[in-house]
Amino acid sequence: MTVKPGEYVYLDLSKRYFPLPGEVSSAGLGEPILTPEKVHLPVHCGDVDQGGKPAVAWDFNLLSLDGYSPETGWIRIDTSKLASIHIASFEKRRSVQRKASKSKKARRVLAKYSKRERNRAGKHQLEIARVVQSVCGSVGLEELEKQAMYTRSRIWNRRISRSDWRSITRILVGRLGEARVEELDPYGSSSYCSRCGWFNRDLNGADVFVCGGCGLRLDRQLNAAINLYMRMRFGYIVKWEGGKKSIVLRMEGASRVAWWDRVVLPSLVGGCVLTRGGGAEGDQ
Ligand SMILES: [Zn+2]
Repeated sequence: MTVKPGEYVYLDLSKRYFPLPGEVSSAGLGEPILTPEKVHLPVHCGDVDQGGKPAVAWDFNLLSLDGYSPETGWIRIDTSKLASIHIASFEKRRSVQRKASKSKKARRVLAKYSKRERNRAGKHQLEIARVVQSVCGSVGLEELEKQAMYTRSRIWNRRISRSDWRSITRILVGRLGEARVEELDPYGSSSYCSRCGWFNRDLNGADVFVCGGCGLRLDRQLNAAINLYMRMRFGYIVKWEGGKKSIVLRMEGASRVAWWDRVVLPSLVGGCVLTRGGGAEGDQ
């Protein structure tokens, strides 16, 4: 706690008699208020009723939608059928596209294909949103506009189409309410190690995330979903240094690795392998 510039008072909360929200995080602790007799420490207690359902963060991809929360573990929704609708329609449209500029009939056929694609995709979008809603009290989603800024076409090809993404987000906002849909900065969500924060500069589209810092090996999309979950749970700060962006979690000095091992690891039944000793942590 800052008393005056450069001078601090440290409060040891480990001997407290009152409960803190699940984890120490900025989202749970408010700004302390000083009076001559007392220090008031606002603590955020619980959220609006979510029907006992957890908050789950989701990583959108072309072939799957990957969700994570410690309560549910890894949830993978297969979106390959949705992708194949777009791919099939793209092929069909391409075959008549060249004629469309000259022929009225070809233009009608093209419009028919587009409408059919939208209808079919719409059904899948609804179904995906229904499944997401059935497991979540609230959701964390990648912020679409921000994603566009940092994503190049090659990477974008791996991802679910923007219109699907936008539609699913819209359906979820409609059903859960705006307060329960949190849009998260997706920067580097696949590149950071969710356990120790190491940044993997050459991911090269590998399916398994391998950490050069702590040795974690984890499905790439699961790692991304865990990163998004942690951004939703702890909050984060966007930093710019020397023209480079980075995302820093607001864990307020709590050990990230210790939190991960205590909360995330037990929830990953069979989905995670830790290899090679990471210093004091060792192989677990
Ligand atoms: Zn790591």
